[in-house]
Amino acid sequence: MGEAKRKIFVISGPSGCGKNTVYDELKKRIPDVQQTVSATTREKREGETDGIDYYFIPKEEFLKKIEKGEFVEYVRYGNNYYGTLKSEIKRLADEGKTVILIIEVNGAANIKRLLPDAVSVFITPPSFDELTKRIVGRGTNSAEDIKKRIEIAKEEMRFKDMYDYCVVNDRLEDCVDRISKIIKGATEK
Ligand code: ADP
Ligand code: 5GP
Repeated sequence: MGEAKRKIFVISGPSGCGKNTVYDELKKRIPDVQQTVSATTREKREGETDGIDYYFIPKEEFLKKIEKGEFVEYVRYGNNYYGTLKSEIKRLADEGKTVILIIEVNGAANIKRLLPDAVSVFITPPSFDELTKRIVGRGTNSAEDIKKRIEIAKEEMRFKDMYDYCVVNDRLEDCVDRISKIIKGATEK
């Protein structure tokens, strides 16, 4: 095995399809992978930590960072803003990590335009019924928020063909297997 190739990976998929669960499993198998911590204006959920899950910042601060050009990409999603800071990608790359952005579809399209070398993966739920069950089962979203997320999910599914790979998260193990192979295939010489 030669020296590892530097690659940036972008993972998208409807809220509740299992992106964070898949990422946690990936990290166990490939310890070098590291997700960028995004900035967001949304409320912190129970169990989330500032600086680990997100940089939770007020809207005024987010807008200021947009003005200063500090984001490599950002979007408005639902009633909140989410964005990837340039400094965050640099921080992880400097540490020699395999950088993974877990972001929604518009942000992913922006990254692909900016960094055509990035490898993109779309995770789909096995069905909308299962997606609803997962979001409800996670127990972190209000009824109104869940409805909005399912609406957005239907829109997001239309983007899946733009990705380099599309992987169904039915059995977690199988999904993680496939994405591990994609990452290893792109980073190992
Ligand atoms: P996302 O990060 O895409 O919003 P999460 O990782 O938070 O999604 O997963 C949403 C819920 O679905 C969680 O409760 C998680 O445990 C569950 N989940 C994830 N993957 C699977 C799977 N393959 N089968 C069943 N449940 C899953
Ligand atoms: P959640 O509120 O469930 O944490 O995230 C909502 C959506 O925003 C998810 O699809 C998530 O992947 C996406 N997201 C999180 N951070 C970013 C980001 O920095 N940029 C973009 N474009 N989307 C993000």
